[in-house]
Amino acid sequence: MYPIDNNLYWLGRDPPKAVHFKNVKQVHCVDDLPDIWGGILCVNLDDPEEQSHMLVSIFSHQKVWSWAMYVTHTNHYSDCLCDGVFNEQTAYNYWLEINHRLNKLSNIEQIDPLTGWLGIQRTRRVTPFKQLNYLGIYQYPIIEALYPELYSTYRYVLSEVNREMLEPEKLVDRIRVCKQCNSGHLNYVEVCPNCKSIDIDVQTSLHCFTCGHVGDQQSFLRKGKLECPNCLTQLRHIGVDYDRPLETHICRSCFHLFVEPETISNCLNCETQTETAELIVQKIHQLKLGQLGEYVYQHGKVLQAPELSIKGKVDAGYFENILLWLNKVALRHDEEHLLLSMYLPRLEEYSSLYGDSKMFALLDQITVRLNGLFRDTDICCQYKQDVLLVLMPKTKMTSISVLQKKIEQLSSLIEEEQFVLHVSAVKIPDPTINEGVKVWLAETIGNIYAAR
Ligand SMILES: [Zn+2]
Ligand SMILES: [Zn+2]
Ligand SMILES: [Zn+2]
Repeated sequence: MYPIDNNLYWLGRDPPKAVHFKNVKQVHCVDDLPDIWGGILCVNLDDPEEQSHMLVSIFSHQKVWSWAMYVTHTNHYSDCLCDGVFNEQTAYNYWLEINHRLNKLSNIEQIDPLTGWLGIQRTRRVTPFKQLNYLGIYQYPIIEALYPELYSTYRYVLSEVNREMLEPEKLVDRIRVCKQCNSGHLNYVEVCPNCKSIDIDVQTSLHCFTCGHVGDQQSFLRKGKLECPNCLTQLRHIGVDYDRPLETHICRSCFHLFVEPETISNCLNCETQTETAELIVQKIHQLKLGQLGEYVYQHGKVLQAPELSIKGKVDAGYFENILLWLNKVALRHDEEHLLLSMYLPRLEEYSSLYGDSKMFALLDQITVRLNGLFRDTDICCQYKQDVLLVLMPKTKMTSISVLQKKIEQLSSLIEEEQFVLHVSAVKIPDPTINEGVKVWLAETIGNIYAAR
């Protein structure tokens, strides 16, 4: 049962007298902390830099993700790692809350630290921190503290977002980085579009209509009058004798005249020159626990293979593309297809009730039965963990009753009382698919969830 002990651990000067906690125990480094889950620590160091280093080192403690952690002086960096400014009353309640949740976790040892850290306190976020002396400019202190061996926290975040372990919550910034070394320290500089020299100037030019000469306005000035330096014609009326060309820039290296300079980026780190369009754009998000992260947190591990192995099965992105394409074909050629969705509402519950091996057995049965039902030309996709989509080309809505009967038979064949399958069908084409297939699918699936 948690909490394991009732002590407040205090690192730094002036440990307070305990009111809610049993004892206040002073520690000096991470090695002094006990090897327990669900402890509480407050760091009271005056030097912000020392505090930051100490906080990072504390995260090397294997179980510290499950601790409540405070400081006496906050700053942007500590906000990324800690639960705020220490106040015994609020800290005590917060700590009790964490321990209450720890008691509900079945296999605490298997949870990876980041998922645990985010899962145990839902107000925690993976927060980016801007640091100018850092090559990539933004770091994620909590990720660097928990996984110091990572080479790029940005790439780590990206891949965790892709597999839905993390979910972007708020866009904090959008930066461009060097394609060579990922440095965010770039200098944007205007260059001559002809020879790429940086030695360019703004110049107001005049264009003599008589001889076609173009030159700096200054060179046309003769005794307070305008006169072409080339053919010596007096220029009186703009639009009649002369005009101002659009080219307002001149290159001092090749004397090229141009309207707009090109902008290129020079990496201040590796000196690679890049056209701005070729720079890598990074979106810097604040993140929270994602859908899969939630699952892993609750079940202690990634579900190995909740995937149905059905013939003609494709991944979600591929399925979306096919759906979009088939929809366009159907609109053009006046065809009719069917999108069948099957929702297994209790799958998750089932696995937590009966364990994974039982669930795999169930999925196996479903797989065998479904494989007998579909044609070779049908395309299946396990779009969500509990939603299976089947695209049935050239199938009319009118055949749904036959199909339904077959599915009912199938359901009754599955030897499991807990097994529930909701089936619904949507007719294709639907013009709104063209406006955004992901959104359309999300809505369709939303309807299935709502209908149960
Ligand atoms: Zn030039
Ligand atoms: Zn002239
Ligand atoms: Zn670079």
